[in-house]
Order: sequence, then structure tokens, then C-alpha cells
Amino acid sequence: MKKLIEWSVFFCLSLTLSATSHASRKVAIIGGGMSGVAALSHLSRFGNDPNLEIHLFEMQERLGGNASTQFLENSDGELVPVDFGAQFFSEGGWDKYIQLQKDYDLFDEEVDLANVSVGLIIGEENSKRSYLETPSRSLRFISVRNVKKLLVLKKFLKYSRQFYVEKRKSKERVTVEDFLSELPDIKEKDKRNIILPFLSSILGTPMEETKKLSFFSLTHLVSFRPVHPLGKTDYQVPLIGMGGVVEKIAMLEKAKSSYPIHFHLSTFVKSVVYKREKDVYEISYNEKDLAEFDYVIMTTHASQTADILIEAEQELKDDLKSLPYITLRTVVHYDKDSSLILGHPSHHLYNIAVNPKRGEVYNTINLEKIHPMYKGMFRTVVLNDDVYDKISGEKFSVEFHHPLVTPFFLEKSKMIKQSIKDKKYPHLGPRLTLAGGWTKEHETQETAIISAEEALEELSLVE
Ligand SMILES: Cc1cc2nc3c(=O)[nH]c(=O)nc-3n(C[C@H](O)[C@H](O)[C@H](O)COP(=O)(O)OP(=O)(O)OC[C@H]3O[C@@H](n4cnc5c(N)ncnc54)[C@H](O)[C@@H]3O)c2cc1C
Repeated sequence: MKKLIEWSVFFCLSLTLSATSHASRKVAIIGGGMSGVAALSHLSRFGNDPNLEIHLFEMQERLGGNASTQFLENSDGELVPVDFGAQFFSEGGWDKYIQLQKDYDLFDEEVDLANVSVGLIIGEENSKRSYLETPSRSLRFISVRNVKKLLVLKKFLKYSRQFYVEKRKSKERVTVEDFLSELPDIKEKDKRNIILPFLSSILGTPMEETKKLSFFSLTHLVSFRPVHPLGKTDYQVPLIGMGGVVEKIAMLEKAKSSYPIHFHLSTFVKSVVYKREKDVYEISYNEKDLAEFDYVIMTTHASQTADILIEAEQELKDDLKSLPYITLRTVVHYDKDSSLILGHPSHHLYNIAVNPKRGEVYNTINLEKIHPMYKGMFRTVVLNDDVYDKISGEKFSVEFHHPLVTPFFLEKSKMIKQSIKDKKYPHLGPRLTLAGGWTKEHETQETAIISAEEALEELSLVE
């Protein structure tokens, strides 16, 4: 663990804000999340112009973006890297992400990865009633009632998988609500108390918002696979944290890249403007710094991108601003048991609470179920202040900006990307493009990587 902290400190100290050489063509990557760092890595490995110089701008003091790893003490007082944002990946839906880690020798599967079995309990908030418990060490789940509920979930997962693999036109347009309404053999009560909370917990969205999401996209996110989803090892967690993975790739790349790479951390990009007369992009950052670039890859979220592209066509800015997002707050805390849920200790990874009146849901991950190093630690997605207030003892929270991938979101974001490719917006100039998980089907570490690779192809910077 000490090693992890050392490289983190080394990484922060080794950042440079150096002067640039005039002979090279300069590439600006805006945003240091997975897509920014994947762009850096892909460019450095497959770039076709030997005279590039790469600058990555990140407003936070660390790289990672929505893969946000922070060092916190576990209940034994040991410092451990804890993920507030992105946490899991699995084979089937994260192939490029897995390959990228392998390319940098980032994990030895025995040592640096935890395999997680997704046991879950769904219960009524402030009550001892549970709607559903998947098998665990607890004996409570063995009841006729609970087994019946498990079969409901199993049936739902079977239908979801069929839907996902079926070649079906316009499936992105089907919302969660549409899909559920087409399942006559699942009771309304079970849809409300089991299926919707289960789906909501995947993104941390309130149930009302979950209903509007693209069902295809949501199933893609959890990558329903042929394996039985209950009981088996389902997900993997890097023990340096998913933000740690992003930082480590950046550090290793900087050390070996044939291109000069400059990281500008704690650097807020205010604007990017194409200067036609000089054929360069002028980037303004911090208080009053300016620099010129030949290429720009924006990996910021939609509305942030609209704010930065100050001179872009109004139509583009309006489209970017129209994409629905949600603010998620995740809190890491130290409850002795997950007494937030049903008032008893949890034997499960996921602990989901439903409020039957408000219809809202919150979920608590028992981090110790991922690895013993997270002793005593829980992570809760908080939608209301009253849930936040209920969490007793020490707590640490981070707010995230997360796309709400509705059918409208998918259509609009595809349209925006295509219009930029088709050079519909002359004010953007010829060598600027957008990347980021949100520009693809759903926002994951995987789609962030795919978007970055595509962005480099669009700019003809890679073979
Ligand atoms: C709570 C939560 C849980 C998640 N769980 C998972 C999971 O289990 N598995 C998974 O694969 N994915 C998960 N995701 C999604 C995943 O985190 C994102 O898909 C991924 O981080 C997207 O990467 P990105 O580079 O496109 O964007 P981001 O990670 O958002 O990076 C964009 C970067 O741009 C920076 N930036 C913005 N504006 C400026 C500016 N003006 N100047 C400079 N920098 C700027 C931001 O600080 C940020 O670092 C989760 C997300 C959240 C919020």
C-alpha cells in the first residue's frame, strides 16, 4: 500500500508546465479522465506524426475524472485507495479496458484484482421487511416467499438478455418503462419493488428517472452475459482503484512515450477558439494564460464542452446543453453494519432501500465484500439530504455529473458527433473533435476508451 501512495506522490511531483517547442505540432487534450488518458496512450502508441507534442489539461489536482479514487483510512486506520465513482468492470463489456491494463502490465490477476460476486438485498426503507435477498451466508433468504422473488428477478434477467442479444431495430428507443410494460407475467408490485430498484441501483438514479432511460443502453452497461447473474463471480475491481488505473497509465506513458507529454493539473480551461487567420486553436486557461494548438480533443461532458467552445455555433451549444444529466453524490462512510438498510448487518455487496411512498431508492455497497482491506467501509449513493443526514459518524462525499442516457440522449449525442464529423460547424475549425464516455452508447470506462480512439482517427492522427 505504501508503494501506491509513493507513486501517487511521485506522479504529482513529476508534472510539468513547461515551455513548448515551435517545430512540433501541438495536441491539446482537455480533460484527464479515462478518455483523455486513453487518447494520450493511443496517440503515443499509434500516432503517425513523429513531431507531436501532447498537452493534457485537467481542472482537478488528480487524473481520473469520474473514476475518482481517494486514499482513506479503513476502520483499522490503514490508508486504502477507495473508489467514489467508477468501481467495477467485467469481461464481455469492458474488453478494451481490460486490454489497456494488460498492455501496461497493470495487474497480476492473482494480486491486484478483486473478484466480486454481486449479492444483493432490496428492502423497504425504515422497515425490517426485505423484498428480495439473493443467496448469501445468511439463512434468512431461505423462505418460499424469497425464492419466489428470486425467480422473478431471474425471469426478468432472462428477458433482458433476450432483448439485448436479439437483432431488433431501434432498440435504443425502448425505455425501461416501455420494456417493463411488455412483461405481463411479472406483477406490477414486483416491477416496482424489485426490478426498478435493481436497475436504479446500477446507475444510482431515482426510479422516476430510471424509467426514462434507454433499456438497451442500460443492459449494455451491465453487460448481461450468458452466465447466471446470481451467485457467480460477476465483476472485477482493481485494487489500486479505477482512478488509480487512469493515473498509473498516464504515469507509465509519460515515462516511455516517444512524444513529449505535459500534464497541466489543477488547470481550468476557460475557452477554446479557432483562429482562422493563423489556423490554430487558442486555449485560454487559469486566470490569464493562453496557448496555441494545432489539434484539440475535448473529453469534457456535454454542457462543459458548450461552455468552453465560446465561439461555436449557437445551435451546437444549445444541442450540447439539451442533453439530460443527473448529479450523483456518493458518500463513503463507516457504519458498523449497514444499519441504514433494514436495521441488520449486511451479508451482501449491494444493499438497496426502497421508499414505497416517494419511490426513491438509495444503495449502499459494503466495500468489505470487495476486499478485506476495506474493513468497516461502506459507499452509499445519496439522492436526498435526509439520507445523508442519517449516515452517522465520519463520511466523505464526492459529487458527480452523470449522463442520463435516455433515447433522446442517445439520438442527440449521435447527431452532434456526426455533425462535427461532417464539418457542419465551421467555427470549430478543421481539427477539433469531441470524445468522452458520454459520446458513445453508454458512459463507462470502456466507452471512454472507444471514444478516444475514434477521435484520433477522425483527426487522422493515428493509422
Ligand atoms: C458514481 C459513478 C459510478 C460509476 N461506475 C462505473 C463502473 O463501475 N464502471 C465503469 O466502467 N464506469 C463507471 N462509471 C462511469 C465512468 O466513470 C465514466 O464513464 C468515465 O469516467 C468517463 O470518462 P471520461 O474521460 O469520458 O469523462 P470524465 O471521467 O468525466 O473526465 C472528464 C474530465 O474533464 C475534466 N474537466 C471538465 N471540465 C474541464 C475544464 N474546463 N478544464 C479542465 N478539465 C475539465 C473533469 O475534471 C474530468 O476529469 C461511473 C460513474 C459514476 C459517476
